[in-house]
Amino acid sequence: MPQRFVPPTEMLPVEEALARILDLCEGLPPERQALEEAHGQILAEDVQAPFDIPPLDNTAMDGYAVRAADTAGASEAEVARLSVVGELAAGYLFEGIVGAGEAVRIMTGAPIPEGADSIVPFEESDEEGLRAPGQTHEAIRSVGVMKEAKPGANIRRRGEDVRAGETILQKGTLLRGAQIAVLASMGTSAVTVIRRPRVAVLSTGDELLQPGQPPAPGKIYDSNAPGLAALVEEYGGIALRLGIAKDTVDALTAKIQEALSADLVVTSAGVSRGDFDVVKEVLAREGTIDFWTVRMKPGKPLAFGTFAAPDGRRVPHIGLPGNPVSSLLAFELFGRPVIHKMLGRTPKARPLLQAVADEAIVNTDGRRVYARATVRMGEDSRWHARLTGPQGSGVLTSMARANGLAICPEDRSQIDPGEDTTVIMLDWDQPLD
Ligand code: AMP
Ligand code: MG
Repeated sequence: MPQRFVPPTEMLPVEEALARILDLCEGLPPERQALEEAHGQILAEDVQAPFDIPPLDNTAMDGYAVRAADTAGASEAEVARLSVVGELAAGYLFEGIVGAGEAVRIMTGAPIPEGADSIVPFEESDEEGLRAPGQTHEAIRSVGVMKEAKPGANIRRRGEDVRAGETILQKGTLLRGAQIAVLASMGTSAVTVIRRPRVAVLSTGDELLQPGQPPAPGKIYDSNAPGLAALVEEYGGIALRLGIAKDTVDALTAKIQEALSADLVVTSAGVSRGDFDVVKEVLAREGTIDFWTVRMKPGKPLAFGTFAAPDGRRVPHIGLPGNPVSSLLAFELFGRPVIHKMLGRTPKARPLLQAVADEAIVNTDGRRVYARATVRMGEDSRWHARLTGPQGSGVLTSMARANGLAICPEDRSQIDPGEDTTVIMLDWDQPLD
């Protein structure tokens, strides 16, 4: 006879639950990663520039490379006329020297020809006026400079961005587009970064069907695993989609074994307080696990523990509630920081803002309420939070329509309409209107 599950009595504050979870999770080791795959990963070493950037003095404008001294006193009325001795596009070197009275037609990014010390933009030359209709610039043999050129004007100096040997990105830097661009500008094609966590995602329950299967009486589609796997990837991990385990010891045990190659195991359902559940029995047998009630709504039941992997690792396991909203919300609050910690990031809270509650946010039992809300800037230039409809923990659309979580604290029975509420902003890109 399996032991009957004894429900815990204490209610853990959200912060306490998170602290306990983070305590048992560690940053992952570094890996060599192709630059193009490294977006969202953390640099595991300082990166030095192998050469000056830009590597040569080059022009910041399309125009003419000249000797500034040749343009002394030039004006629109009295142009300094120079003979055009060549043309230079970006990517090529000028083979020759710009002598006195000479100019080279030059395009942005092209290295400054020897002898020249200033760039005259086209706008400060009479090039346009010289051209007969239909004539190309190749026919231009000389150009008038209409304004005195200053030495060094419109020249980007070698090394003005980065000097050879300088540390340009520090260990611990999060790689986004701009950082990847800097690495690419140095010719880098691979970097040493903290490995991404592989997160096994498993749904449990006899009632579940995979999306794509034909509907059947009494059954529902598994929404947790697809949603959670997407969140894993949004948070920077790699999702291992393990599908659905039936509520039998054998089925669940087999799936858990499969999950042990991962860095983190996420299951949903079967962790509710109260009645006996086969999920609890298997989880307890395959590793160490605590079943908590967390002072939050939705999402009160939560399990956390570790499995022993065959290779000796302790693999952390988050057992999420089955109710779809609870499951996604608990993963946002507890799974996101874990993935970030494993990725080598400092787990940080989402940005918070104060918004006017356009509706009451009701708290019936002393838990912290995370109401799903649409947050918009109002005509009064203040943020406003409007609930996304019925707030039951099974009402998935309440989550899908929300861009923020409006909080009613544990010690308040209600946030009144018109009162300020703290909002956790989940998504700044939505709503789109
Ligand atoms: P449980 O935690 O097993 O008591 O499940 C609570 C509720 O969540 C029940 O209504 C389940 O049918 C539902 N549920 C459990 N797992 C899933 C899932 N993967 N997708 C959608 N609903 C689920
Ligand atoms: Mg169940």
